[in-house]
Amino acid sequence: MDSIAEVILENNIDKPLDYLVPKAMQELIKVGHIVKVPLRGVLRTGYVLSLKKEQAAPSILPIETIEDRSIPEELLNLAEWMSKYYCINLSKIFKFLMPISIRENVLPKMQIFLTAQKTKKELLALHQELLLTSASQAKAIEQFLKAQKGLFLTELLEKEISKSVIDALIKKNIISSQKIIKEQSDLLLNEDFFSTKPKTLSLEQENALNSVSQSLQSSRFNVHLLFGVTGSGKTEIYLQAIQQALDMNKGTIMLVPEIALTSQTIERFKARFKEKIAIIHHKRSAGERSKDWQSMLSEEAKIVIGARSAVFSPMPNLGLIIVDEEHDSSYKQQEEAPAYNAKNIAIVRAKIANATVILGSATPSIESYFNAKKNKYILNELTQRPNNSSLAKVHVIDMKTEMQKKGGFTYFSEELLSKIKNRYDLGEQTLLFLNRRGFNTSLICTNCSNVFKCSSCDVALTFHKRENYLSCHLCGFKIATYHQCPSCHSLEHIKYQGFGTEHVEASLHAIFPTIRTLRADRDTTQTKHGHEILFKQFRAGKADVLVGTQMIVKGLHFPSVTLVGILNTDGALNIPDFRSSETVFQLLTQVAGRSGREELQGEVIIQTFMPENETILLAKNQDFKSFYSSEIENRKLFNYPPFTNMIKLVFSSKDESKTAMIAEDFRKILVQNLSSEDTIHPVIACGRAKVKDHFRFQFLIRGKRTLSLCSAIEKTKKQINLGSIHLFIDVDPISTFF
Ligand code: ADP
Ligand code: ZN
Ligand code: ZN
Repeated sequence: MDSIAEVILENNIDKPLDYLVPKAMQELIKVGHIVKVPLRGVLRTGYVLSLKKEQAAPSILPIETIEDRSIPEELLNLAEWMSKYYCINLSKIFKFLMPISIRENVLPKMQIFLTAQKTKKELLALHQELLLTSASQAKAIEQFLKAQKGLFLTELLEKEISKSVIDALIKKNIISSQKIIKEQSDLLLNEDFFSTKPKTLSLEQENALNSVSQSLQSSRFNVHLLFGVTGSGKTEIYLQAIQQALDMNKGTIMLVPEIALTSQTIERFKARFKEKIAIIHHKRSAGERSKDWQSMLSEEAKIVIGARSAVFSPMPNLGLIIVDEEHDSSYKQQEEAPAYNAKNIAIVRAKIANATVILGSATPSIESYFNAKKNKYILNELTQRPNNSSLAKVHVIDMKTEMQKKGGFTYFSEELLSKIKNRYDLGEQTLLFLNRRGFNTSLICTNCSNVFKCSSCDVALTFHKRENYLSCHLCGFKIATYHQCPSCHSLEHIKYQGFGTEHVEASLHAIFPTIRTLRADRDTTQTKHGHEILFKQFRAGKADVLVGTQMIVKGLHFPSVTLVGILNTDGALNIPDFRSSETVFQLLTQVAGRSGREELQGEVIIQTFMPENETILLAKNQDFKSFYSSEIENRKLFNYPPFTNMIKLVFSSKDESKTAMIAEDFRKILVQNLSSEDTIHPVIACGRAKVKDHFRFQFLIRGKRTLSLCSAIEKTKKQINLGSIHLFIDVDPISTFF
């Protein structure tokens, strides 16, 4: 019997290939190892998928080398599941799961960090002595007296203190040196938190925690849905559950929405735990990623906090996965394959690891609440806020009446203006929320109705006043603004139209010249710490009003905000998608939750042209359960998720007619491969019909089992030649329109 390894290669061959394991490697080799194997005379990277004993065919080639890196077995199992569920090659999944820095063994850039080994008093005494014997060493000591925590060698060298002086001090055990990653130093130096103790839980919190801890203590795979209004103490439960996991020597992965990954969230966790916390965000360098990966594998970091990709952290001995704001759409990767949803991955992964899952939200997704109702998930509810602050009062304003009063368009209703003024006078703060989905400031010609569109993407260009240009929010195309219509050559009829944060800010200044405003949107928060700096400024009272888009909604806590104005919601309600009511309900409830979270009573104003709309009225009462009851009826009636599973197939290329034709051909073959209970929709142009010069067509399929839909797709792929047409398979799509 020979020892044979099934190896999946990185370069896109969808079947694993057999290789012989040489005698010398047999003790060493494990499933998940990265290996180098020959393929047509070239060495290729691959992953060991399984090991077997059988007679080798004479043509079989031996493995060349085993690398000292491997993918943990748990992730390997997850990868196999993902490959089937998301209809994507296993090799692509591996590539995606393992950071490139690990695959290619990139080492992080290290820097030397120096810390004093003496007390301040001892240093002062030494300094006195050294002034007489060695002026240069004394100078170095001065720097350490000034520094809070320690210094980078580079900082000292900049101050013209030589390396030999430092070496001498190290030799005398006055200072010590360690190698750390430069970027991590930000975190290291900021670790001056007041540590917090676990709070005495309210009865509701205690019940919820007990329920979670029963699963945790018995290492049972259970999904808990923690449904609690904003400010009801969900985070406190996460903290105490993590503590229990630590006490059992188990690791935790905590997922938060991309945008909530601010120092505000992280501080709360760092202040509670002395243990090392790995923070994963997409802006981390390759070196930092290697370091994270290693520190998790070595169990140095037992808590990981991160956005969606953190669900793939190679945490051994995983006990708990928390998905905060579980309804949030940023958990879904929508633009590229694999189109995974980190919430689903969390559940599958926990099942593999016998870990416990907590999904937390004030506005659970319809699917999750449905699963809780069916007892697939365990429901834990928090109905009260521990500090007894009451929920905000919500008013709905009919903008049709406001327009009549004003005799034309206005951003602000009279009531909103008077309340902003009132907050301004009291020194309290206001958030103005602008829903930009479907609405932008665009340029039109009122003479010939020409809309200025991006020629590559078929969407209206957005006008940016400060820089005076038009830009496309899909592809980034920029052009100086027009003063003459290129179509009818009119000079007088060029008009700006629609909503924009910048315009709202300017209009507010026109009404209240002394009001101080800040603006949070994609333009003002582009830099690495952009939105954090902005939010810090606002929290510190540097402005009276914060105008912003989606990004001001999530998980932020501004104690002096007592008024939230929602300027427009109707655009999102009009998007033809089965989730649009749900999205709007979540958005309105979450925005409302930003108002009045401490001792100050909060108010919310929702401005709308559809004041009788049911979703808006239910959001006004922050009545999730009634919303759920009516929404679930709709879903059932039209056979939408959770009553069915959906896959969206998107075809794109630069050739419009060819793309449409292939989509039709694919559909025809797929129909034959699907079962008779499955539904297939017609081919249509996507809501965004053209992006970056690529024409996009789509159709949906629905059925009881995702896996059987996937195998029908796999089969069809083999029966058709897609040529240059790109096919994106979106399993459980968030949006069926765009
Ligand atoms: P959520 O995560 O549900 O929005 P938080 O955990 O942030 O709620 O709690 C809201 C506020 O209530 C925080 O200031 C938190 O410190 C406080 N809090 C939470 N639990 C308790 C408790 N048991 N006793 C007193 N204060 C609490
Ligand atoms: Zn474009
Ligand atoms: Zn014109």
